[in-house]
Amino acid sequence: MSKNPIIEVKNLVKHYQDIKAVDGISFTVFEGEIFGLLGPNGAGKTTTLEIIESLREKTSGEVIVAGYQLESHADEIKQQIGVQLQAANYYPALTLNELLDMFAGLYNVVIDNHDILSRVGLETRGKAKYKELSGGQKQRFSIATTLINQPKIVFLDEPTTGLDPQARRNLWELIKDIRQKGTTVVITTHYMDEAEILCDRVAIVEKGKVIAIDSPLALIDKLIASGFDRKKPVKQANLEDVFLSLTGYEWRDE
Ligand code: ATP
Repeated sequence: MSKNPIIEVKNLVKHYQDIKAVDGISFTVFEGEIFGLLGPNGAGKTTTLEIIESLREKTSGEVIVAGYQLESHADEIKQQIGVQLQAANYYPALTLNELLDMFAGLYNVVIDNHDILSRVGLETRGKAKYKELSGGQKQRFSIATTLINQPKIVFLDEPTTGLDPQARRNLWELIKDIRQKGTTVVITTHYMDEAEILCDRVAIVEKGKVIAIDSPLALIDKLIASGFDRKKPVKQANLEDVFLSLTGYEWRDE
């Protein structure tokens, strides 16, 4: 993997009145990696992402995306990124084709709807209305919308929340495929198994500060080296394995 920085966040601060939502966060994301922002509810992950995406104003600090300074080149940055909003909701009565046409118009690009939909396994649903999709299909469609402008970086905010185990696994494959095709991925998730499987590196955010940043394996090894010993004996399978072996691994919401 190349080691070119594609996102640099330096001492980022965001205050909402007296709440220090982001309290001096710094990290670098390298081109081609899947980078995870992890942390408890309210830690400041979404605020950090939305500042990088220029959806919110920062209080102070520096953000550089794809070589552009956020302060002076927000428009250039917007052209380089694809943003999936948390629990995105679209015009429910429009079809997927109509929604894609609308997005393409907003981005001022010409796209092949079938091609975009097939990247997320929805190529047969172009004429379906958004409201007719299952939860997993809605998530996949929202990821498809991030790809319309052929971004260098996609931001996925809790993309698998609320999905069944099969749909989560299939979305992991989709996210790996997006990276495989050369796009850097920044993701937030509350599922640590997901972060461990998907992310090359993670930053753990707590009360607006980065308290750890490394590969999942390095963080786990560091914990073990500190003497950590898991109390409960670990079995060869867990309930999720039972669920998946009984119900199968394929998409269930077609
Ligand atoms: P979650 O995991 O629950 O999505 P998060 O890590 O993404 O949490 P943020 O949504 O960034 O956290 O919120 C960080 C802090 O900022 C929280 O205390 C939140 O209540 C506060 N906050 C977020 N948005 C606003 C806002 N628009 N006005 C005031 N406070 C806000």
